[in-house]
Amino acid sequence: MAKDLRVIIVGAGFGGLCAAIECKTRGMNPIIIETYPTSSKYGDIIDFFPNGGRIIEAWDNGNVGRELMRTGINKGDKFQYFKYDGTLIYEEPWVLKPHHYWKQYAGHRGNMHYIVKSYAERLGVELLFGESVNQYVDGERPGVITESGKKIFGDVVVAADGPRSKARQQLLGLADKKVNSGYAIFRAYFKITDAHRKNPYLAEFCDPNVDHTKMWTAKDYHMIIYTWNKGQDIGWVITHKDTEDIGESWSFPGKLEDAIACIHEGKFERKLLEVVKATPPEVLVDYKLVWRDPIPTWLSPSGRSVVIGDAAHCHLPTSAQGGSQALEDGVVLAMCLDKAKGDVPLALKVFERIRFHRSHVTHMSSISMRDTYHNVDWDGDDLKKHPEMMNLPRFNWVIEHDAVANVEKHFDRIANDVRTNRPGTLEELAVPAEGDYSLEMRVDPTGNVIPRDVKL
Ligand SMILES: Cc1cc2nc3c(=O)[nH]c(=O)nc-3n(C[C@H](O)[C@H](O)[C@H](O)COP(=O)(O)OP(=O)(O)OC[C@H]3O[C@@H](n4cnc5c(N)ncnc54)[C@H](O)[C@@H]3O)c2cc1C
Repeated sequence: MAKDLRVIIVGAGFGGLCAAIECKTRGMNPIIIETYPTSSKYGDIIDFFPNGGRIIEAWDNGNVGRELMRTGINKGDKFQYFKYDGTLIYEEPWVLKPHHYWKQYAGHRGNMHYIVKSYAERLGVELLFGESVNQYVDGERPGVITESGKKIFGDVVVAADGPRSKARQQLLGLADKKVNSGYAIFRAYFKITDAHRKNPYLAEFCDPNVDHTKMWTAKDYHMIIYTWNKGQDIGWVITHKDTEDIGESWSFPGKLEDAIACIHEGKFERKLLEVVKATPPEVLVDYKLVWRDPIPTWLSPSGRSVVIGDAAHCHLPTSAQGGSQALEDGVVLAMCLDKAKGDVPLALKVFERIRFHRSHVTHMSSISMRDTYHNVDWDGDDLKKHPEMMNLPRFNWVIEHDAVANVEKHFDRIANDVRTNRPGTLEELAVPAEGDYSLEMRVDPTGNVIPRDVKL
């Protein structure tokens, strides 16, 4: 029975935490093993859009969502899009539709992580922090061996171990083919001080009444500045070209002079320079964006271990979907384990077929979006006719998706396909990533932007 399942989850990012919470609420017995000793303070801003936020909103009668809301960006405010010189191109509400209000969260990743982890603790999820998994063991009774020699075995192993996943190599036998995406991001988050409030160029970011979310776009660059808690916190990111490969870390120190050089090269307006100059040097992170192609399967040979979240589909930040897709994985996985009533290989196969194409398309869209931002024809007719091409893509088929309803819709049919060995490749058997593509700009399943005049 699913209720007795011992679920071993590696990694307490949002994917691992969500899987644990959703398994626990269905009566399973999850344990999370996490390298960091405590809830991570690392990271700056992270967004959850309504497809991910609706999963959080279902937790503890909405109380987890309300806690996130209190620490995050006020969503009554606008999202504005500018040309590098400060010309306003387009603006839209942060929350596009009223029914998204309680399903959309943005704020400091560390704070949000702490809130979600605390909820897992309250539910009684077993947490083993400060312990790294060294070895995955696949088989009828899969498990892990930690650096300190602990052997933890159970019914299913869920590797939510992020972009540098060891599981991909050890469980799936895939060589770690990380490729420098050709881009990196400088990122920073800090408290606004009285000294900042005296700088006239920073006035709007110190606004005690309104939170600001603004994006500026230039050839080969884009910069986003967020303020939250009404003029008390500020975060910014600049995406820029970079060919150096130093691995991946959220805490690699960046150099302010390099970030300042980006501002000059992008010909960005003066206030952006002032924001970068106001940044305490020790909080600047230089994060090299490593790209990984979609992988052919997420399941181990025994069918009892699976990779989820960024380990399965490492989204670049321009997709704005990395966190939400990890949450979708978590809830879909728990539902499949529950519905398969103890048949773990069946559950994992159905999980993979439900999630494969959808996450693949959002994964690939991060590249096409970045290229759109970096190659705007500022004088062309396209931009005049469609200034919304500058916006953060929030396609209806992505953000209106209800992962829970989707499992209810597809589980029985796909489980039947698995049980009857329906022939076909994973691409053929998986649920298509279809939606109502009702926004103007959209990507095809290989991640290419589809011109507006092409009817799907
Ligand atoms: C420290 C950190 C800061 C981040 N900051 C931001 C941010 O500011 N903005 C943003 O948009 N996204 C950020 N991200 C990424 C974002 O959180 C993820 O893209 C998204 O939430 C998907 O989550 P995930 O759970 O799949 O992977 P991740 O969030 O990467 O979580 C993977 C977890 O697995 C743990 N782990 C890895 N290997 C092992 C092992 N062998 N044994 C035990 N534990 C292991 C890692 O320590 C990590 O906590 C950050 C991720 C991390 C880990």
